[in-house]
Amino acid sequence: MGKLVIVGTVAFDAIETPFGKTDKILGGAATFIGLAASQFNVDAAVVSVVGGDFPQEYLDLLSDRNVDISGVEIVKEGKTFFWSGKYHNDMNTRDTLATELNVLADFKPAVPEAYKDANVVMLGNLHPLVQMSVLEQMTKKPKMVILDTMNFWMDCALDELKAVIKKVDVITINDEEARQLTGEYSLVVAARKIHEMGPKYVVIKKGEHGALLFHDENVFFAPALPLEEVFDPTGAGDTFAGGFAGFLAKTEDYSFENLKNAVIYGSTLASFCVEKFGTERMQTLEDKEIYRRLNQFKQLTQFEIVLE
Ligand code: AMP
Repeated sequence: MGKLVIVGTVAFDAIETPFGKTDKILGGAATFIGLAASQFNVDAAVVSVVGGDFPQEYLDLLSDRNVDISGVEIVKEGKTFFWSGKYHNDMNTRDTLATELNVLADFKPAVPEAYKDANVVMLGNLHPLVQMSVLEQMTKKPKMVILDTMNFWMDCALDELKAVIKKVDVITINDEEARQLTGEYSLVVAARKIHEMGPKYVVIKKGEHGALLFHDENVFFAPALPLEEVFDPTGAGDTFAGGFAGFLAKTEDYSFENLKNAVIYGSTLASFCVEKFGTERMQTLEDKEIYRRLNQFKQLTQFEIVLE
């Protein structure tokens, strides 16, 4: 059984969608990644930071699912990272209303000793210098390093981000961010340019339009499951990344063929995440529901065509 290290924000989120509005609820990239990865029963640890204002019961949600939280620092006198966003009517686009780094601003991550030889490292969304520090603490070269990031860090720490991109095997990035990073509108050209920056594999997430996996000349496409209702897309990208990383840590097979399955697992888990506000749906998710939806995915994409 593989080991997975996850770094990313553990946060308070305030979200507004056409269906409703929340006060501060549990959020953060590492939270969504951890909840998704916990579905695979791998040894997973989250490295992050919260303030003294963060409820213990939120941390318990992760440890109850056997996610190691010894690498989550609690700064008693500090405030937790806070993000607020408002979705447009189509739910595909959103405005960030606030990003308050708080305790994240001075965070020095510490990877738990037992995880310094993890086979998979998931560098979730936060400052690229923190992502780099986690990589530098690994005593054994990980089999797979996966990076997720967003426009916020491209705007304020582009050089540091490029230095991390150089060191990773896989990047997961959404379509608009791939365009921003490369200055290319075509996602095929953007993926090629990102390959040249370092990663062997490039995953471009297209929200409700699925995800593309690029490797050399190979491209694989997984649609998103057509859902009747999308309630809140927050965390879908992180949940995708958590499913992707958790599946690879479990199977320990890093071939292109297996990465395709990792994309399917990531997409499947993300399809649940969007059904309720924040982490709500991921908290009650059961194995049999995942299994059923994986089958739906298979039916959605499988066809037999006779080519003469
Ligand atoms: P996603 O919808 O997958 O892009 O992820 C949303 C989650 O990312 C929210 O729970 C936020 O707390 C977190 N988040 C938002 N902005 C940032 C940022 N600049 N750095 C790290 N995490 C962030």
